[in-house]
Amino acid sequence: MKTLFRLTGLVKPYFFWMALAALIGFATTGSGIGLLMTSAYIIAKAALQPPMVTLQLGIAGVRFFGLARGIFRYAERLISHNITFKILAKLRLWFYDAIEPLAPARLMHFKSGDLLQRVIDDIQSLENIYTRVLGPPLTALLVAALMWFLLGIYSMQAAVLILCFHTLAGIGVPLLTRQLSRGVQVGIMNHKAEQQVLALDLFQGIGELQLYGKMPAHLAAMQSAETGKLQLQRKNAIIEGLHESLTGLLMNGALIAILWALIPSISTGAVNGISLTVITLAVMASFEPFLPLPSSLKHLEADRHAGERLFEILDAKPETVAPASPLPFPGEHTIQAEQLSFTYPGSITKALNNLTFTVLPGEHIAIVGPSGAGKSTITSLFMRFWNSNEGSISIGGHNISRFDPEELRRNIALVSQRTYLFAETIRENLTLAAPESTDDDLIKALTDAGLSHFTSKLDEWCGQHGMKLSGGERQRIAIARILLQQAPIMILDEATANLDGVTEREVSKTLNAISAGKTLITITHRLKAMEQYDRILVLEKGIIVEQGMHGELMAGNGLYRRMWELQHVAEIAG
Ligand code: ADP
Repeated sequence: MKTLFRLTGLVKPYFFWMALAALIGFATTGSGIGLLMTSAYIIAKAALQPPMVTLQLGIAGVRFFGLARGIFRYAERLISHNITFKILAKLRLWFYDAIEPLAPARLMHFKSGDLLQRVIDDIQSLENIYTRVLGPPLTALLVAALMWFLLGIYSMQAAVLILCFHTLAGIGVPLLTRQLSRGVQVGIMNHKAEQQVLALDLFQGIGELQLYGKMPAHLAAMQSAETGKLQLQRKNAIIEGLHESLTGLLMNGALIAILWALIPSISTGAVNGISLTVITLAVMASFEPFLPLPSSLKHLEADRHAGERLFEILDAKPETVAPASPLPFPGEHTIQAEQLSFTYPGSITKALNNLTFTVLPGEHIAIVGPSGAGKSTITSLFMRFWNSNEGSISIGGHNISRFDPEELRRNIALVSQRTYLFAETIRENLTLAAPESTDDDLIKALTDAGLSHFTSKLDEWCGQHGMKLSGGERQRIAIARILLQQAPIMILDEATANLDGVTEREVSKTLNAISAGKTLITITHRLKAMEQYDRILVLEKGIIVEQGMHGELMAGNGLYRRMWELQHVAEIAG
């Protein structure tokens, strides 16, 4: 119920348009009823061979209702589709606005296929909240009231009877259908979500699935999700058939009951034969708006579920929130980590344990250590993707939680192992970092990043995930981005780890050139060209076990030296 209230709250700005659409929907059905009534009147009256002139009113009625029905239907469709698109746009914006601060910490628990389904299917399901859920009951209610009034003119007994049959068709059948189809819509949605997750895994992990012989099992899981969905869809179709038959049955029942109630009045003269014909057809037509009601209730269930799934994400508290009055990013940016500890939610071991270190402006430091030592966790804390559990990180003497996270991220340029390129042009991928960049800025950044041959291809498409570019070119695009960003602090998190030897050397050279004069933190497990760093922190299981310059660390007999010797075994042997 709470979810429904929240959903209704979201569409509140469109209440006026919804009421108007319902009214016009009623006018459309009303015109349909009017058309049948006037037609019945003409046919019944013509059978008595009266003078033509007495049929004039009926003929005018047929023309009027015939035209009005088309016009009203058009207007109703126009308004209800307009409402639908407005709701869709609002929901999408609302969802993206809410989801952005949650990335990445709070979104980690959701599989990407599941998130995709929420963004596409759940929102699409909610976009129809007016046309499928709220509109039809309103129209049916107005038509029931009209019929009650019309029949009341002739006989109170007939009015009560139609009220009973409409209640059964409008409340009884939908409730029965709902009872029978309990869980069906939700089940179909869950199967669809499962299919999305499996399909994404298939596309992205096809290599691994084939390599480890897991393809048959994966395909079987996809098949089972499809079979489950099909079974529920079949059940759904049977229930839909049932509700249509029941509504038809009720319509015929209503017809018999009303004839039974009105026929005796013919002898008293309260009703004549022509009126009886007209009423009969009106009763039949009045059941039309009741047909979509069971499906409204079903959509209501699906929408409630879709709403719950969306609110589940949106109710997650963002890991980082901007302070009410953020401090400007300082000009002096000494970085200080003090007794910094961090444990990932659900984990029992500390990823970082009591780290204390300082990075002076312009200093170049390296954080090295074996895989899993906690190096990337430091990046995540610096960028405020996560907040530390204990201790603090400060820049220029201020805790980083006092800056707006966006401002902080603008001032720390990050190149990670895997650069994500959007399926857009090179220009759009670059201006992500600095939207106001001119063509000259872009050309200079590309040239400095070693991509001068790209300067004439600014509007060329990068392909899905930047497929049209090599690994080295993708990293160079990331370098061009940070050049545009002009941040005083640079973090290179295994920036060259995925590149082949030759490309790695070239990209490293470019990175060295652009980091001159900036504060640089390089995170790596590969000990290459370590002499260039002012200081090296050696991390093991979240603890700084050694620190110093390359020569000092090599003079010792600790982890650093062991790692270096392991990685340079060929050189040592040679
Ligand atoms: P490194 O970068 O040195 O390879 P990480 O900082 O990625 O190491 O990881 C440090 C530890 O934290 C590892 O034990 C890793 O398994 C764990 N870890 C990393 N990311 C997460 C996460 N999102 N949730 C839970 N544990 C994580």
